[in-house]
Amino acid sequence: MTTSMTVPDRFGRPLRSLRISVTDRCNLRCQYCMPEPDYAWLPKDTLLTFEEIVGITDAFCDLGVNRVRITGGEPLLRRDLTALIASLAARPRIHDLALTTNGVLLATQAAALKAAGLHRITVSLDTLDRRRFRDITRFDSLDAVLDGIAAAAAAGFAPIKIDTVVMRGVNDHELPALLEYARPLGAEVRFIEYMDVGGATQWSPHAVVSRRDILAALEQSYGPIVALDERTSAPADRFALPDGRIFGVISSTTEPFCDSCDRSRLTADGMWLMCLYARAGTDLRRPLRAGASDEELRRLIATVWRSRADRGAEERIGFAAREPLIPVSALKKDAHLEMHTRGG
Ligand code: SAM
Repeated sequence: MTTSMTVPDRFGRPLRSLRISVTDRCNLRCQYCMPEPDYAWLPKDTLLTFEEIVGITDAFCDLGVNRVRITGGEPLLRRDLTALIASLAARPRIHDLALTTNGVLLATQAAALKAAGLHRITVSLDTLDRRRFRDITRFDSLDAVLDGIAAAAAAGFAPIKIDTVVMRGVNDHELPALLEYARPLGAEVRFIEYMDVGGATQWSPHAVVSRRDILAALEQSYGPIVALDERTSAPADRFALPDGRIFGVISSTTEPFCDSCDRSRLTADGMWLMCLYARAGTDLRRPLRAGASDEELRRLIATVWRSRADRGAEERIGFAAREPLIPVSALKKDAHLEMHTRGG
């Protein structure tokens, strides 16, 4: 199939953006994502091969997907990742091919990722303070991450995006410092509200710094901030500082944007999820390995998307006593409920 089409879900949202997790393993243990002492991992033999990932991606592109983001776990832990990037980059229907990484292994891989055809890189970075980095991530890897970001800039990724989860009393005083760090790199910082997703077992409403509070804090440091008038399906709303510098805020917790959500997620073992807050997904690995034809795979994907009515983040707003989405006991029984399996 060469032409791409639009498959609307029950609210008319098109299938456009696919986030592909290539591993559930991570080399950090961020308190807001993987705070537990141990985890249940996806069995190795269930992980999709690159050939399987590309085959599934082609089926999605047949149905209108034109943006792909590689994520994890930590995607740079997946051996030979550049081979997958090169295959995906060779597909002209993918207009936007991006990668989200914690940056720890980026210094040695940035140039190869660029050469393989990756379009864009987002690096997660929550603090510039070494001790705080260790407290948040449980690893002493800040220097490696900063080297990775520098290597990505040197390799020609521009603009790099820097994603910061803002937590009250942890890093909420560092927002201007992060913007100043990003300035000479030409990087765009996006401040993310702390989300009560699966895996965030330490989450509490008190720890969330809302979009409103983020903007108020930055206005105190910089003066009036202007909201950019953009209508996109991107998760970040973008703003300009008085000097014209742009930054973003992803307000999934207090001001969600489900009505424009065209994203879905594929876990490393082929579970397809409609929403970060979903309790269950559709197993695409099983039919694929049972010999489903391209047409059968497309039909399955289109049928599931057409019946999609998820508005997970908006529904969470309605809960009076909001607390972590999934209890630890349930996470231990099903790794698919974890944010580090879903990829963010
Ligand atoms: N390892 C890669 C990384 O660190 O970017 C990719 C996977 S990570 C799960 C993707 C994104 O999810 C990161 O930016 C991370 O900060 C974000 N994330 C994880 N847990 C979160 C939470 N509870 N609230 C908001 N963002 C979260």
